[in-house]
Amino acid sequence: MNCDLVVVGAGPAGSMTAKVAAEAGLEVVLLEKRQEIGDPVRCAEGVSKTGLKKLVEPDPSWISAEVKGARIRAPDGTEIVISEDRAGAEVGYVLERKVFDRALAQKAAEAGAKVMVKTRALGLLREEGVPAGVSAAFVGESLKIEAPLVIGADGVESKVGRWAGIDTALKPKDIETCAQFLLQDEKIDDEYCEFFLGNEIAPGGYVWSFPKGENLANVGIGVLGSKADSGTPMRLLREFVKENFPAGKVLEIMVGGVPVSGPIETTTADGVILVGDAARQSDPITGGGIINAMRAGVLAGEIAADLVPRGELDKSALQVYEKRWRETIGKQITRNFAVKEFFVGLTDDDLNRLIHSLDGVDVAELDLKGLLKVLVRQNPKLLLKLRHLVV
Ligand SMILES: Cc1cc2nc3c(=O)[nH]c(=O)nc-3n(C[C@H](O)[C@H](O)[C@H](O)COP(=O)(O)OP(=O)(O)OC[C@H]3O[C@@H](n4cnc5c(N)ncnc54)[C@H](O)[C@@H]3O)c2cc1C
Repeated sequence: MNCDLVVVGAGPAGSMTAKVAAEAGLEVVLLEKRQEIGDPVRCAEGVSKTGLKKLVEPDPSWISAEVKGARIRAPDGTEIVISEDRAGAEVGYVLERKVFDRALAQKAAEAGAKVMVKTRALGLLREEGVPAGVSAAFVGESLKIEAPLVIGADGVESKVGRWAGIDTALKPKDIETCAQFLLQDEKIDDEYCEFFLGNEIAPGGYVWSFPKGENLANVGIGVLGSKADSGTPMRLLREFVKENFPAGKVLEIMVGGVPVSGPIETTTADGVILVGDAARQSDPITGGGIINAMRAGVLAGEIAADLVPRGELDKSALQVYEKRWRETIGKQITRNFAVKEFFVGLTDDDLNRLIHSLDGVDVAELDLKGLLKVLVRQNPKLLLKLRHLVV
């Protein structure tokens, strides 16, 4: 097979890339190793409404719940509430990703991309040492798909980056190891996404409860890889559920990883671009990556449409992608990485003190920067290291 662009992975990043590039006239092949796009789900499915609306028109069929905001609970139970439009990239809608991911791939197909499910990329083809497409297996049959540009949208476990010689390795301190239940319980707060902080309940991370309507919620935990072994998230999640939702019934279980490394050194190589989790573009504080993956997909699709017809696809030509994502998505990731690095060093007493210091402050309408500003003002000594981020 021959085409202008091969996109590996039909998650939010890959489908947006394929859609945008196909709309601009490129011949695009979108590969997905799973037989059903979006299934199984490895996500808590929260996204900001405004973030999503800038990228696609939301469709009721892929939204399970709309929330009013976020409740953030300190280790001692003290709580703050932030409104949905200020609470960051994970709060607003709770999606049904099985439907959402497939709908995005459908949009790519409607734009003209050839979508191939149950097709696993196995390696890069090379011409005179330069990547020139991928080898793949479709239901056990070997395929060669030649293309001058390969976009790796193959998620947190990305291999495309490694094949191209891009260093995407994550240290244990740069990955949140997660476990999640789809939980049914009458105690679930249907109106808010809840975040529970504390070194005992989730070392270096947090527990979440994202409602999906009808007393269902994605209740999960992320624990920093450097603070736990592989069995810890599931053990701590069980303990949390036993304590907080003793009558809760577990309908699904999943485990997964989220990169919280901040921007990596490079996301391009000759003939190769990485997008989304493959490029480590998720938010280091929340681990939310859907919106950033989609935004990066749009950028990569536009850049592919511009550069493929000109045949300018070596690493230096692809710097335009590096520049554009780092100036937009990257700025926020860099700031949030600094915030995360600081916060994972705090004790539960520190966390309690910070939340108490917001007593009497109307935090509902503050975004992260506004909230940090107030916290720094109220706790100048404790947050000295974050001062530069808010001035
Ligand atoms: C427990 C958990 C909870 C999360 N909660 C949230 C949340 O609430 N909100 C949020 O915004 N983000 C959340 N995330 C992160 C979010 O899921 C990711 O950031 C997002 O899915 C990234 O999109 P992507 O397209 O880059 O990768 P993915 O969605 O992972 O898609 C990659 C695709 O590539 C395919 N693939 C991989 N290798 C190959 C191959 N060799 N050949 C063909 N196909 C291949 C995979 O099958 C997959 O479909 C969560 C993650 C986890 C683990």
